Amino acid sequence: MKRIALIGAGFAGLAAAYYLSEKFQVVLFDQKGIGGGASGISSGLLHPYPGEKGRRSWHAEEALQATRQLLKVAEKELGQPVAQYNGILKVGPCDAGDDVECLSDGTFLIKSGITVFPELYLEGLWRACQKRGAQLQLQKIDSLEQLSGFDLTVLAVGAGIRHFAECRHLKINYVKGQVLACALEKTLERSISSKRYVAMTPSEKICHWGATYEREFIDERPCKETAIALLKPETEVLDCRAGIRVTNPAHYFPLLEQLDATTWVVTALGSRGLLYHAWLGKKLFSTLSI
Ligand SMILES: Cc1cc2nc3c(=O)[nH]c(=O)nc-3n(C[C@H](O)[C@H](O)[C@H](O)COP(=O)(O)OP(=O)(O)OC[C@H]3O[C@@H](n4cnc5c(N)ncnc54)[C@H](O)[C@@H]3O)c2cc1C
Repeated sequence: MKRIALIGAGFAGLAAAYYLSEKFQVVLFDQKGIGGGASGISSGLLHPYPGEKGRRSWHAEEALQATRQLLKVAEKELGQPVAQYNGILKVGPCDAGDDVECLSDGTFLIKSGITVFPELYLEGLWRACQKRGAQLQLQKIDSLEQLSGFDLTVLAVGAGIRHFAECRHLKINYVKGQVLACALEKTLERSISSKRYVAMTPSEKICHWGATYEREFIDERPCKETAIALLKPETEVLDCRAGIRVTNPAHYFPLLEQLDATTWVVTALGSRGLLYHAWLGKKLFSTLSI
């Protein structure tokens, strides 16, 4: 059986690990563990109309279907829901679609919208990967030369990609995002997506206010004062978390690229990590299975 080194255990790495471990022996390397990057702090909003213009995303249907499949996999492993499936409200424009209902207050209900609880989802998905034989090594990979004994290597390191010389040619940007965990004074029926958003969490008493788009940033660490100034939350702030999105400035599509005969990279999931990770994992599987 061919051995694959998969670096990065976020949404992209775990989806790839799940599909690849059906046919290959997968060893995941992560410097921090499961969900150690942006995936672990993301707000979990999943719908096909992101962005201020509200246009339906590229390959939205296939991508959504792939993510729904992985959500089911994670739920089966955990024996509990890892998401809320009651739609997402969108403020602002939205392409007309079968899954969009215009409400009388001028907002849209995206019926297919799902709020994923990333911690639970990642845990369930990782358990499913383990069942298929995938292993995890807590280790920082500084250079691809460090890895030996593998037939193929896949980089899914999120913002860690900027430290890999092999990826310097990729035209990608880095955008810092911060999320505030805030107290909820009344029950939130569903997440609300707008320029700022309010996302449900597994706790009825806490929501996430997000997210900032800080293109000029010096420090990756959370800065509560900046996040509060940008997000203007309306209730008590309990916590602040930060992560870096990797985006493809040309057209906001994610990238799946071959770097050399045995090395692949999955990157630029931007703020649509949940929409695209499962679909990319499936694509990678079919590409490497040929
Ligand atoms: C504040 C914020 C809110 C967001 N909200 C949403 C949302 O609501 N919905 C949505 O769809 N998307 C959201 N996103 C975007 C989403 O989080 C990302 O698209 C997604 O997490 C990217 O996944 P990834 O697996 O590519 O990277 P990551 O999740 O960053 O995973 C990379 C992994 O690689 C590891 N790593 C890095 N370098 C190395 C190395 N050298 N050696 C070993 N391991 C390494 C890291 O520890 C990490 O675990 C949000 C992003 C941010 C920042």
